[in-house]
Amino acid sequence: TKKAIIIGAGIAGLAAAIRLKVKGYEVQVFEANSYPGGKLSEIKIGGYRFDAGPSLFTLPEQVEELFKISGQNPKDHFEYIKLPVTCHYFWEDGKSLKAYSDINLFAEEVEVKLGEPASNIRKALKQSDYIYRHLSPLFMHRSLHKLGTWTNSLALKSYLKMGKLGIFNTMNAANVKSFKHPKLVQLFNRYATYNGSDPYQTPATLNIIPHLEFNIGAFFPKKGMHDITNSLFKLAKDLGVEFNFGAKVDEVIVENGKASAVKVTGELFKAELIVNNMDMVNAYKSILSKQKQPKKLLEQPKSSSALIFYWGIKKEFPELDLHNILFSNDYKKEFDHIFNLGSIYEDPTVYINITSVYKKDDAPEGCMNWFTMINVPNNQGQDWDVLIKEARRHIITKINRTLKTDIEPFIELEEILEPRTIESKTSSAQGALYGNSSNNRYAAFLRHANFSSDIKNLYFCGGSVHPGGGIPLCLLSAKIMTEMVQ
Ligand code: FAD
Repeated sequence: TKKAIIIGAGIAGLAAAIRLKVKGYEVQVFEANSYPGGKLSEIKIGGYRFDAGPSLFTLPEQVEELFKISGQNPKDHFEYIKLPVTCHYFWEDGKSLKAYSDINLFAEEVEVKLGEPASNIRKALKQSDYIYRHLSPLFMHRSLHKLGTWTNSLALKSYLKMGKLGIFNTMNAANVKSFKHPKLVQLFNRYATYNGSDPYQTPATLNIIPHLEFNIGAFFPKKGMHDITNSLFKLAKDLGVEFNFGAKVDEVIVENGKASAVKVTGELFKAELIVNNMDMVNAYKSILSKQKQPKKLLEQPKSSSALIFYWGIKKEFPELDLHNILFSNDYKKEFDHIFNLGSIYEDPTVYINITSVYKKDDAPEGCMNWFTMINVPNNQGQDWDVLIKEARRHIITKINRTLKTDIEPFIELEEILEPRTIESKTSSAQGALYGNSSNNRYAAFLRHANFSSDIKNLYFCGGSVHPGGGIPLCLLSAKIMTEMVQ
C-alpha cells in the first residue's frame, strides 16, 4: 500500500487522514502540539470547561460524511442538536432580538421589536439561498484551480448572474438596500465576521452566510464543539491512522520535483503523498522555505484575529443564551479600527458564548462559562499588552452598560487567547482566524490551491487554502484535496 504523511492534526488534517485511509493509504500524521484539533481544542480549569476556538457549528453533514465513508453510523459516534434560537442580540438602548431558527418567528420578532417589515427578512434570506445555490457547487465543492470548474454548465450559468450574486456590491451596501432599520443592517453585516472580513469592503456575495444559519441551521454538539475533534480523532485512530504528537515537521523533502519525505527532528519519514495542513504563509517560511514561493498569494491580507477572555462567572444570567451579541454603537468605526487602523475600538461588539446553557457540566452549579470574544486586527506587531489591558476594560464596561450589571466581581477565573498566542499555538500567520480575508471580490481566487503546481505528490488542506476558513470549509478542503489525488 502507498503511504501518505499529513503535517498537522487540525480539523482539516484529521479529515484528510480519514479520507486517505478510506481510500486505501497507510496514513501517518505529525502534529507539533501534544493534542489534536489545532484551533478546535478545549480548556479545562477550576471546574469549568471552555471550547477554545470555534463556537458556531454549521453544516454538520460535513462531519457526518466522514463517519459514513468509513462505514459507520454517525449517530453512534457524534451527536448534536439544532438550535431553536441561533443568537441573542442586545443593544445598549435596551433593544434586543432573539434570532429564532424558524424564519417566520424571526421575521415576526423583527417586525414587532423594530418595525421592520417581516417580508424584508424573508426576501433577504431568499437572496442568501439564491447565492448559496448558485455558488456553493462552484466555490465550496470543487477546486478553483482546474479548468473543468470554469467550463462546466454550472459555471457558465453563473457568469450570466454575476450582478445578482452580489459580486459588484459591498455587503453593507446590499444590506442597506434590503433593510430599513439600521439595527438589522448591523445584524446582517456581522456575517462578514464569520470569515474574518469587513462588511464595508467584502462583496455582497458573502450574504451567502446567513443562509447557513437561518435556512440550514446552527447546531451544537451535545458534548461541546471539542467533540468534533474528539470524535474525528477517535474515528481516525480506529481506522488505523498513526498519530505522532509533539512532532513538528521541519522540512518537506523534494527530490526531482517530487515531495518524497518529511524531516522531523533530524529523522526522515518517506511517503508517496504529503499533505500539508499547516497555514500556508508559515509553511512557505519553514517547511517549504527552499521551494519556489507564490509571492502574490502569500502577501494577501489576512483575516481578522480575536481576543478572548475565558471567564468563570459565578452567577447565572437567564437572559443569555448559547450565542450572545452585544452590539457596538458604531459598527463602521469598529471595523475601521480592525481593518484600517490596526487597533481596537473603545466600544467593541462583544460576543459571549456560553456552552453551559446547553451543557450544564461545563460550569459549576449556579455559574456560567463565558467565552467572551471581540474581533481584533491580526498581529502586525502592535503593543498587545497595552491593547489587551485597555480592551478588557472596554469589554467590561460594555457588558455592564448593555446588560445593566457589574460583571467584574463575578469573574472568578480568567484565561486569555489573543493574536500572538493563536499564532504560537497553531502556527496561523498573524494569528488570523480564517487564513486570508475576503475583503475583495477576487479573494476566492487568491487562496492557495489544494495541490502544488510545481511539486508533485504535495497537497494542501486547511483554513488557509481553498475553499477557506471555518470548520465546514476546512472539512471540504480535505475532500476536494482527496478527490484530486490519483
Ligand atoms: P488549525 O486548527 O490551524 O491546525 C493546524 C495544525 O497544524 C495545528 O494543530 C498545528 O499545531 C499544526 N502544525 C503547524 N505547523 C506544524 C508543523 N510544522 N509540524 C506539525 N504540525 C504543525 N470556525 C467556525 O466554523 N466557527 C466558528 O465559530 C469559529 N470561530 C473561531 C474562533 C476562534 C477564536 C478561532 C481561533 C477560530 C475560529 N474558527 C471558527 C475558525 C476555525 O477554527 C478554523 O478555520 C479551523 O479550525 C482551522 O482548521 P485547520 O485544519 O486549518 O487547522
